[in-house]
Amino acid sequence: METKQTLEQFEQFVIANYGRLPFVINKGQGSRIWDADGKEYLDMFPGWAVSGIGHCHPKVVEAIRRQAGELIHMDNTFYNEPQGQLAQMLSERSFGGKCFFCNSGAEAVEAALKLARRHTGKEKYKIISAEGGFHGRTMGAITATAQPKYHQGFLPLVPGFVYVPFNDVAALEAVFDDEVAAVIVEPIQGEGGIKVASQEYLQRIRDLCDEHGALAIWDEVQSGMGRTGKWFGYQNMGVEPDIMTLAKALGGGVAIGAIAARPEVAASLVPGTHASTFGGNPLACAAGIATIEAIEQENLLENTLEMGQYVREKLGQLQQKYPVIEEVRGVGLMLGIQLGQAGAEIVSRCWEKGLRINCTQETVLRFMPAMNVTRELIDRAIGIMDETFGEKYAGDNGNGF
Ligand SMILES: *Cc1c(COP(=O)(O)O)cnc(C)c1O
Repeated sequence: METKQTLEQFEQFVIANYGRLPFVINKGQGSRIWDADGKEYLDMFPGWAVSGIGHCHPKVVEAIRRQAGELIHMDNTFYNEPQGQLAQMLSERSFGGKCFFCNSGAEAVEAALKLARRHTGKEKYKIISAEGGFHGRTMGAITATAQPKYHQGFLPLVPGFVYVPFNDVAALEAVFDDEVAAVIVEPIQGEGGIKVASQEYLQRIRDLCDEHGALAIWDEVQSGMGRTGKWFGYQNMGVEPDIMTLAKALGGGVAIGAIAARPEVAASLVPGTHASTFGGNPLACAAGIATIEAIEQENLLENTLEMGQYVREKLGQLQQKYPVIEEVRGVGLMLGIQLGQAGAEIVSRCWEKGLRINCTQETVLRFMPAMNVTRELIDRAIGIMDETFGEKYAGDNGNGF
C-alpha cells in the first residue's frame, strides 16, 4: 500500500488526536525501523519507550507465537500460568510485592490510586503528586498529572489531589497531613524532561508516608524494566515504595500494565474492588516473561549501564561543540539533552537523515535507545546529531537552517 493511501484512510476514518509525521512504519527490528517506501531509520526512541529491548526481539516473538498456539486469552475467572510466573519474576526483582495486571500505564496508575484510597480508609483521601510529572490520560491519571495543558477542556478533575514542585522537600512537608492517602511520583520524570528525583526527596516521601500512614507510589512506567541499568528506577536511589506502577517496556512491545504492592497493602484489593478484563492474559504475560528472560540472558542491564556511559561521553563532546546544549542528564539509557532553544527542528532534521529521537517539554531531546543498542549504532546516531547541530548552530547564532 502506498503511503498516500494510508494517510487518506486515516484522514477519513481515524480520529486525528495525534500530531503524526506523514510516514507509515511497516517493519521494525532491534534499533531499526522501515517505512512503507523501504527507507531505513535508526530508532533511538523505540516505540516511545515501549520497545525497551528493541523492536520484535526474537525471544519475545517466539514466546508470543508459542503462547498464541496454546491460549491467547483467558478471563480471570480462572488461574493461568504465565500470569503467576510474571508476577513472581517482578516481585523477586523488586520489593517482594504482589501484582495486579492491566493493559497500560494509565490503568496501572488508576489501580494504584484506587488501592491507595481503599487501603488507607475514608479519613484519608488526598493524593499528592509532583509538578512536571506525567501519569497518563484517563481522568484519574490526568488529575495526578500536575501539568495544566493536560487538563484543558476536561474539568472538573477528580477531587482530592494536591500538587507540589518536584524534588522540593520543604513544599512536601508543608502540605502533608493525616488526610493524605498517597504520594505518587516518578523516580525519574520522563515526559517531564528526564528529571531525576534525589535520594533525599524519595526518602522524605517515604518517611512522611510512614509517619502519617500514607502510601508511597513510584510510577515506574517509563523508568522501570531495566531502562536505567537497574530493574527499576527507584533502585538507583534505594528507597522502596508501597506500590509501583509498570507498563511500557514490560511486554517487549505487547500491551501490558501492572502494579506491584507490598503484601499488606495488596490485601486491600479484595474481590469486587478492582478488575481488568484483559489484565494478566496469557499472551501479554508470556511476552513479559520473555522480555525479562531476554534482559537477563543477554546481560542487558550491564549493557544499559555501559552504553549509557558511552552515550554520555559522546553527548558531552557534542555539548563542548554546541553551547545550545545546556545539560545532559538522566540515568542509564534514560537520557535527556536540555537545549537552550526549542528542539522540534532538530528532531525533524534528524528524521530526514534517518534518525529517530524525541523532544519533550519543547526543549528536552529524549535519547532512550533499546537496551541492546551497540556502540556502532550509537556512533551512527551521534554522528547524525552532530551533523544536524552543525548545520543549525556551528559558528553562528543558531539561524543555520
Ligand atoms: C507513558 C506513561 C504513563 C501512561 O502510560 P499509557 O500506557 O500511555 O497509559 C504513565 N506514567 C508514566 C511515567 C509514563 O511515562
